[in-house]
Amino acid sequence: MEPAYLPNKEGFYGKFGGAYVPEILYKCVTDLQEAYIPIMESDDFKAEFRALLKDYVGRPSPLYFARRMSEKYGCQIYLKREDLNHTGAHKINNTIGQILMAKKMGKTRIIAETGAGQHGVATATVCALMDMECEIFMGKTDVERQHTNVERMKMLGAKVHPVMTGNMTLSDACSEAIRDWCCHPKDTFYIVGSTMGPHPYPDIVARMQSVISEELKWQLQEKIGRDYPDYLVACVGGGSNAAGTIFHYVDDDRVSIYLAEAGGHGIDTNHTAATMHCGTEGIIHGSRTLVMQTADGQIEEAFTISAGLDYPGIGPMHAQLATQGRTHILAINDDEAIYAGYELTRLEGIIPAIESAHAVAALRKMSFKPDDVVVLTVSGRGDKDVQTYLDNRKMAKEYGEF
Ligand SMILES: *Cc1c(COP(=O)(O)O)cnc(C)c1O
Repeated sequence: MEPAYLPNKEGFYGKFGGAYVPEILYKCVTDLQEAYIPIMESDDFKAEFRALLKDYVGRPSPLYFARRMSEKYGCQIYLKREDLNHTGAHKINNTIGQILMAKKMGKTRIIAETGAGQHGVATATVCALMDMECEIFMGKTDVERQHTNVERMKMLGAKVHPVMTGNMTLSDACSEAIRDWCCHPKDTFYIVGSTMGPHPYPDIVARMQSVISEELKWQLQEKIGRDYPDYLVACVGGGSNAAGTIFHYVDDDRVSIYLAEAGGHGIDTNHTAATMHCGTEGIIHGSRTLVMQTADGQIEEAFTISAGLDYPGIGPMHAQLATQGRTHILAINDDEAIYAGYELTRLEGIIPAIESAHAVAALRKMSFKPDDVVVLTVSGRGDKDVQTYLDNRKMAKEYGEF
């Protein structure tokens, strides 16, 4: 049996995962399935990946003891600072790795989907770095509401295609990227942005992001004299920063894992993105997983204040770990996330991405002993969300004044 953080040969984590792709992509996907592990395990790849993570991204990202947050919650809280990475979030860890893989496979053209534009920017960044042609698919609604990121991508030399199908958001952008891949299977590498999509993507992305928990091991050893925490906390959209945070701890029962998904207006409303609370088994973007869908299998639109968590599916690894009870999944509503974002800002001087604020909000729903060591991943910085925080500040009133 595989450890719980790895899929079997067919790409399944328990009953979730697999590669459900159209005939025309079959060869692309099997080529990648055969190539990815040998590439990732080659000394060549490892050396290049390590060097870029260090000098270009700025890794290791600090593990910071948050004294005032710790006092507030009555435990020992450490923040894993992915917000300090180049381009402002964890996504760059994955795009650096995948572009190196694309080059090793002789591909010349890169495509990617993006919702909030964070993965689009991280992809356009590494394409500039590696001098590769870059085309980004983004729902037209998102193009309009994430204007700055669109301009960043263009400045980096990428071509941005507004997608006009469906709700014109992330899910539609994924479908369009897959469609483009079908038309250019030979020269094009699709850089997927989270632990989703057909096998081997969920495994590729989890391995690229596993640098987060690899660093946690020695950073905790240095700071507290043991290499594991009592609790890990992270937010989940498709699941990549969470997968990276838990990767080296999934089989360690001493570590409790709490993941925050976006409740939107609440899991008992139609305005939610809490896939693991509200989803049922189905297939989305090439993978069997939990999906928010109607009784007859139409995919439903996700809703949350946080563009980066706005996805009606979830990576198959998380569907499996949650179903088997290894991870605890909390749904965090918009107002709770806004409050938590202000709280971290005022207590520690760190403005988190609204996505990461969902993880911070999870703390209020957990209970701790004073000696408990909690590691919370701050997946990104909140510069992009300042307007959202200001516009929605009143929402957080019932929890306290800021
Ligand atoms: C994209 C994004 C997320 C959600 O994606 P995951 O794959 O679930 O990690 C979370 N935080 C930030 C800052 C993001 O940009």
